[in-house]
Amino acid sequence: MGGTTLKLLFSTSLTLPKWVALGAFFYSKGGVYMPQVAIMLPNGTVEKVDRESKESLDALRQVAALLLKAALQDQFKGIRLGEAVAEEDQFFVDSDKDNQQVSADELEGLERAVKKLAKENLKIELVKVSVDDAVKAVEGDQFSSELLKENAEDGQVSLYKMGDATILAQAPIMLYANLVKNVKLLSVAGAYWKGMSSNPMLQRIYGTVFFKKEDLEADLKARQEARERDHRVIGNQLDLFFVDPKVGAGLPYWMPKGSTIRRTIERYVIDKEVGDGYEHVYTPVLMNLDAYKTSGHWDHYREDMFPPMDMGDGELLELRPMNCPSHIQIYKHHIRSYRELPLRIAELGMMHRYEKSGALSGLQRVREMTLNDGHTFVALDQIQDEFAKILKLIMDVYKDFNINDYTFRLSYRDPKNTEKYFANDEMWERSQSMLKAAMDSMGLDYYEAEGEAAFYGPKLDIQTKTALGNDETMSTIQLDFMLPEKFDLHYVGEDGKQHRPVMIHRGVVGTMERFVAYLTEIYKGAFPTWLAPNQVNIIPVSDEKHGDYADDLAREFRAAQLRTVVDHRSEKMGYKIRESQTQKVPYTLVVGEDEVANGTVSVRKYGEKDQVSMSKQDFLDLILHDVATYSRE
Ligand code: ATP
Ligand code: ZN
Repeated sequence: MGGTTLKLLFSTSLTLPKWVALGAFFYSKGGVYMPQVAIMLPNGTVEKVDRESKESLDALRQVAALLLKAALQDQFKGIRLGEAVAEEDQFFVDSDKDNQQVSADELEGLERAVKKLAKENLKIELVKVSVDDAVKAVEGDQFSSELLKENAEDGQVSLYKMGDATILAQAPIMLYANLVKNVKLLSVAGAYWKGMSSNPMLQRIYGTVFFKKEDLEADLKARQEARERDHRVIGNQLDLFFVDPKVGAGLPYWMPKGSTIRRTIERYVIDKEVGDGYEHVYTPVLMNLDAYKTSGHWDHYREDMFPPMDMGDGELLELRPMNCPSHIQIYKHHIRSYRELPLRIAELGMMHRYEKSGALSGLQRVREMTLNDGHTFVALDQIQDEFAKILKLIMDVYKDFNINDYTFRLSYRDPKNTEKYFANDEMWERSQSMLKAAMDSMGLDYYEAEGEAAFYGPKLDIQTKTALGNDETMSTIQLDFMLPEKFDLHYVGEDGKQHRPVMIHRGVVGTMERFVAYLTEIYKGAFPTWLAPNQVNIIPVSDEKHGDYADDLAREFRAAQLRTVVDHRSEKMGYKIRESQTQKVPYTLVVGEDEVANGTVSVRKYGEKDQVSMSKQDFLDLILHDVATYSRE
C-alpha cells in the first residue's frame, strides 16, 4: 500500500521482549536441539514456536506474501493490490496493473526481488492506524481501499508493516523477513475480485515457501506430480473434454473419447441400479418456479440457482439445481400403497448450479452436470435397512472402480445457524441420531461435520481427495422428512389409512463430471480396459500388405463389443506404438507377415515392454475377461 507515511496509533516496536532480537533460538528436547522462531500474533503478542510447527510455516507464508506485495510495488509503479493471503499450502497476492498482465516470464525477476528484499531483513511491525489515513495512503487503489474499509474496527485497522508495504494483520506473521530464503513463485492466474465474475479480473500470483531447501524441493516435486495427474491436463492430452469460458464458463463439452467413458459409466450404473430395484425415469430440466418455492430451494438455495426465465405470460421457468422435486412428481402421479415401498426412483438427471466462477475447475466443479441421482420413498421403519442397502450398493460400485481412498463424513446442521435449515428441531435430532446409529451398527468409521448438512436434512457424505489435495464429496445419502411434508406425499398403509413416507436422496457415483475427473486422476489417464475409450489399437507393419488383415480383426473385435481402431497412417511403426502408449490404449496389436500367415496377433499391453504372440481367439478371451471383471491389471 502506498508511499504516504502513516500516523501510527500503536506499534509493536515498543512492546517487543528483548529475546526477540535474537530471531532464532534453540531449546533442547531430550538432548536434541530444536530450532524455534518468533512469531507475532495480530493482537501484538510475540511467541516462540517450534520451527517445524504449522504455525511457524503459516507465519512464514504470511511474510512471503508481504514481501511479494512489496516487490510488486517496487517493480510496477502504481500497481493496485487486492488480497494477499497465506493459505494452507501456499500464498498468493492479487494485483492489477492497468489491465496489463504480469506474465509468467516476469515471475523469475519478481522472485529474485522477493529474495533480495528478504535479505534486507527490514523490521516488521504491527501498526494500528486510522482507516481514513490508511485509505488516503493507498489513494487510486480501489481494491486496497475496499479491503481496508472492510477490515476496519472502530475506525482503525491493524496492519503488518515493512517499509512502505503493509498487509492486513489477520493471522500470525514471522518477525524476520530474512527467513524467507527457500521461496518459489509458482504461477500466475486470473482471479475475479471477491470471486465474482461481475467484478474485474485480477492477476493472482501464487508462491510457496519453506524454512528448509529439502522441503521446498519435495513440495515442488509433489506439485509436479499433481500437475501430471490433474484431470484438466490429462483431459487435454487424451482429448476427453474441454471447457471454454468464452462459450460458457463451467459448461463442459465432452469430446468423443470422454463421451465413451461417460456412456460406459452410465450404462454400468443404470444396470447396477435396476438390479438393485430402482426404476429409471427421464424428467425435464425445466420446471415451474413454484415447485422450487414449495420445496424450499428458492428460499434456501437461491444463490446457487440460475435466475428464472420469465416466459412473458406470467410463467416463470427454472433450470433445476436438484432432481428431487421432479422425482416427487413421479411419486405423486399415482396413489401409492405400502406394498410399493421402498419405492426407488432413479435418473441420470441433468441439473444446473450457478457456482462461483472462482470455484469452477475442469469437470470437477461445473455449472451444468448430470447426477446419478435417486430417491427412495420409505416407511419410517424401513429407513435403517434402506440406508444400509444403499451404502452396500455404493461400496460394491467402488470396488468395481477400484476406489479405495475415501472417508465417511456424517454431515449435521450448524447448531449456531439454524435459520439456514428447515425448522424442526425434533426432525433434526431424530434423523441425525438415526444416521449415526446406522453407521455404528455397521461398525463403520466416520467423522462428524457440523454445518455440512443439506437444508432439508442430515447426510452421509463419502469424501475423496483430488490430485490437488482438495476434499470433495463424491457419493451421498441424505435423509429427508421435510419434502414429503411440503409436497404432501402419502401412501396407503396396511391399515387403509394415509401415511407420510420419508425420502432418502442418494447419489452413487455423484455427477458424471466430478466422477470422470476423479477417475482420470486416480488412473492417471490409464483407464482400465472396460472404461478405456479405445480398447484395442491395431497397427499393421505394412498397411499395404497387412492392412486388410487388421481391418478383418477390427470387424470381428467390434462385433464382440470391443472399441477397436486401426492405425492406417504411413508413420513409422515405432512412432505409432509410442503414440498408442501415450494415448494409454490398454492393448496395442502389431500385425505383420507371421500374424497374417498364422492368424495370430502380437500383443503389447499398456505399460509393458514385451510383446506376446497369441492366437486371435486367445486374445479375445483375454480381453473379454478383462472387461467383464473390471480388471485393472
Ligand atoms: P458440494 O459441497 O461439492 O458443492 P453439494 O453438497 O452441494 O456439493 P449435493 O447437492 O449433495 O452436493 O450434490 C450431489 C453430488 O453432486 C455431490 O456429491 C457431487 O458429487 C456432485 N456435485 C455437486 N456440485 C457439483 C458441481 N458444481 N460440479 C460437479 N459435481 C458436483
Ligand atoms: Zn434429491
